[in-house]
Amino acid sequence: MWTLVDSDAVPLWRPKAAAPGATLVFSTRRGGVSPAPFESMNLGLSTADSREAILENRRRLLLASGLSLGSLATAGQVHGARVVEVSDAGHVPDCDALVSSTPGLALAVTTADCMSLLYRASGTRTSPEAGTTTAAGAAHAGWRGTADGMPVRTLEAVCALGRCGPADVEVHIGPCIRGCCYEVGEEVALRFPGAAVRRPGPKPYLDLPTAARLALAAAGVPATAIHDTEACTACEPYWYFSHRRDEGRTGRLWGVAAVTR
Ligand SMILES: [Zn+2]
Repeated sequence: MWTLVDSDAVPLWRPKAAAPGATLVFSTRRGGVSPAPFESMNLGLSTADSREAILENRRRLLLASGLSLGSLATAGQVHGARVVEVSDAGHVPDCDALVSSTPGLALAVTTADCMSLLYRASGTRTSPEAGTTTAAGAAHAGWRGTADGMPVRTLEAVCALGRCGPADVEVHIGPCIRGCCYEVGEEVALRFPGAAVRRPGPKPYLDLPTAARLALAAAGVPATAIHDTEACTACEPYWYFSHRRDEGRTGRLWGVAAVTR
């Protein structure tokens, strides 16, 4: 479903086939203007990078996605599980996911190892054509948010807004740290199903996408509607920022979802 298009000035993960009525992208670290250690497509204003560089990166990323800086909604991201419905541009504090049915409004979540999840609902009750996008969502979920149910909470918000059931929702998993690299403590591992934890030695390794996939499937999302980039941020320094690998001195990636104008 997903492919990393690296032939453009701004390399992006894009769906191989356009989802009807939705814009969905995941960024990489390539194609921006920021210097080391934020080189180059750093999208996170919480970093020590220059604000001008970050805003230029955001402008480029959104332009390459067919979206604009003036129609951007971002989440405060506090490792919680609160979802907020938005219909206007702006920064929404104290939440980790945004959902919207407003055409052209770009919902962006910021990550550098945590999981970004994008949602597309194709409700049939309000849509003139079955299959057309009625709502979109973007969620940030690290281990805490995933353990606290963020993947399903966002699903529920997208279903309510899009007037559809979980069988009408696609969920997309962006580049994040995975079971190959994500060593965690036992107290963290114990909060997840065994299938999401790898035990190659004494320390457990957590696979957040597997945890999300299991929770979403149990909530009614068809397995065939969960699409994963399968990219690990910690494994690929050329393409991704990784908070853990880079010991905190790094940039931020974006997952962006919008109902198409
Ligand atoms: Zn890895």
